Amino acid sequence: MKKLIFVTGGVCSSLGKGITASSIGSLLEARGLSVRMIKIDPYLNVDAGTMNPYQHGEVYVTDDGAETDLDLGNYARFTNAPISKANSVTTGQVYREVINKEREGRFLGKTVQVVPHITDEIKSRIVAVGKDPDVDFTIIEIGGTVGDMESVPFLEAARQLIHEYGRQDAVSVHVTLVPEVTGGELKTKPTQHSVKELQEVGIQPDVLVCRSTAGLDESLRRKLAAFTNVEYEGVISAKDASTIYELPLVFHDQGLDQFLLRKMNVESRHADLKAWKEVVRKLTEPRKRVRIGVVGKYMELHDAYKSVWEALYHGGIGNDAGVEIVRIDSSRFEAEDANPGDVLADVDGILVPGGFGQRGINGMVVAARWARENGMPYFGLCLGMQIMAIEWARNVIGWADADSAEFNQDAGHAVVSLLEDQIDVKNFGGTMRLGRNDSVFKEGSKPALAYGSTRVSERHRHRYEFSNAYRADFDGSGMVIAGTTPDGELVESLEWPDHPWGVGVQYHPEFKSRPIAPHPLFAAFVKASIAFGDKRAHG
Ligand code: GLN
Repeated sequence: MKKLIFVTGGVCSSLGKGITASSIGSLLEARGLSVRMIKIDPYLNVDAGTMNPYQHGEVYVTDDGAETDLDLGNYARFTNAPISKANSVTTGQVYREVINKEREGRFLGKTVQVVPHITDEIKSRIVAVGKDPDVDFTIIEIGGTVGDMESVPFLEAARQLIHEYGRQDAVSVHVTLVPEVTGGELKTKPTQHSVKELQEVGIQPDVLVCRSTAGLDESLRRKLAAFTNVEYEGVISAKDASTIYELPLVFHDQGLDQFLLRKMNVESRHADLKAWKEVVRKLTEPRKRVRIGVVGKYMELHDAYKSVWEALYHGGIGNDAGVEIVRIDSSRFEAEDANPGDVLADVDGILVPGGFGQRGINGMVVAARWARENGMPYFGLCLGMQIMAIEWARNVIGWADADSAEFNQDAGHAVVSLLEDQIDVKNFGGTMRLGRNDSVFKEGSKPALAYGSTRVSERHRHRYEFSNAYRADFDGSGMVIAGTTPDGELVESLEWPDHPWGVGVQYHPEFKSRPIAPHPLFAAFVKASIAFGDKRAHG
């Protein structure tokens, strides 16, 4: 069986197309069907790797090292669909491919045009993702808002595919806003206009997912159905939920999955949503509470650390604990009179996430020192592990000039630096360690205990490495080199000795955490933080 579900958005951006696409994927999987996910981003960047987190939010990294839009992280959290380079399509990639082919003379002298050459390239990428025999559904989220100039070729490709597959095998789901005006009345007009715009490019939506604060009643749903040619059962009310992980249940209660399967003539078993119900229960009525401080920069940006926030919540799910995240801008530790104990007075553990550039680094070092000296759980992700190295070198070994070469090229002790063979590389983007790599851990180390294994595979995205020139000094002064690459060459994990839970990893475990399968390191860190909070409260 090969079916396509296109997800578009109307009225305005940020309505949750990604969560809608992901929720549909999880519902189909709950019925034993197999799905693949694609995100289309109508921008000219070839990937999201060079984009500033201020504009774009987090860069989500796949096993094969693609730097993609954060929506792919949602797909990975909601579904079992494998995510790789092929699941992220941008205008830049498509044009680059077509222009390369043109330069190679592969169009045999024809005039190369948006239709059919660009649209054909888009179609072939969509079809390729679902080509494995066991795949039932490919869900394609088209970024941007219908009516934007940028998305036109993608909508045309979608129109053609719906026509070629037939409407039983390819459907359109349109996510729109039903705003509330003063007086509390919900307005359907923007949705009607948005559907008209979709119809103008030749696409009749089969489902409308209507976002609103309060929810649509039956009469509004009937009205929308009548004006948009969508069946009444296809008009879904998506009012603001208590957690995004509730959306699969909200959609299921309104019969969205049943409706899609009837439309597409697919038989399946009943949806098994036990695991999702348990996730929502643990998030909304946890048995315990814990407060985690995240110390970094970009703290004011909600999306810059999307996967980190989610992985922390999952760590809470793993302990039946509600995680409250306290975002702490590391500059707060940098003031002359800053007292780290005060800043950290009401958190039970701290996490230092990944990051680039010098700003805020010294504040992170101060926070790490306080956590180390006061037995507060600490979890360092990528940059957060490098901070552990700098802090230890400065305050335990006693090298006041210790730093990362990223922040000070002339540091007396560059305990984090580039590898020899990275140094001449002119191509800045080319020197990153990206994607899946194995790590091996010391027997009995905290990561090994958490994973229940001494060998794991995790994803990387960084340039600088712990410097082997100083490994013996760290070893000799008691720092635990808890993990390395399998050849022993690169340090992958540091662990504070004689400390309840101080662990740094050179990779990004947050990308592999799921609400249904919380990442073991996040679960272990949250568990240690709960214990720290209990001890502090009860002495
Ligand atoms: N800036 C550091 C490096 O490039 C850490 C990167 C990160 O945290 N992702 O090595």
